[in-house]
Amino acid sequence: MGGGMFECPGCKGKDTLQIIAALELAPGPASDERTVQLASCRQCSFFALALYEESHRGSLESESVSHNGYPIAEGKFKALMELMKACPDPFARHCGCQAHVSLAGNLPGSSGVPSSSEILFPMKLLPGRPAPDRRGEK
Ligand SMILES: [Zn+2]
Ligand SMILES: [Zn+2]
Repeated sequence: MGGGMFECPGCKGKDTLQIIAALELAPGPASDERTVQLASCRQCSFFALALYEESHRGSLESESVSHNGYPIAEGKFKALMELMKACPDPFARHCGCQAHVSLAGNLPGSSGVPSSSEILFPMKLLPGRPAPDRRGEK
């Protein structure tokens, strides 16, 4: 979670895809947390809409998280950006503004969207800093 850098499917940059904006949505049928994100690459002209979903319904060990991106055109990216900027509170999941309403109704990969032309890609977070794990080191 958080605003990390992701691998760009466009130019294969290892840490060039950056989340620019995010909007939290009301929980969906299969998730307890849903966040829509806009991401763009700082190296090539790749734009994506990403959906982060988290479910806490299983046992503690089986918390499931999915994070997928969908390439979108630059024009659509800019339009969505404008829409998100207009939201008074992007982290209010039950906000009724136009951005919240229209994004919730047009989620990529959801049944409401013709997704045949959309290619889903996994959002790969770069293992930025090495984890604080010094085993084997003296
Ligand atoms: Zn790129
Ligand atoms: Zn809103």
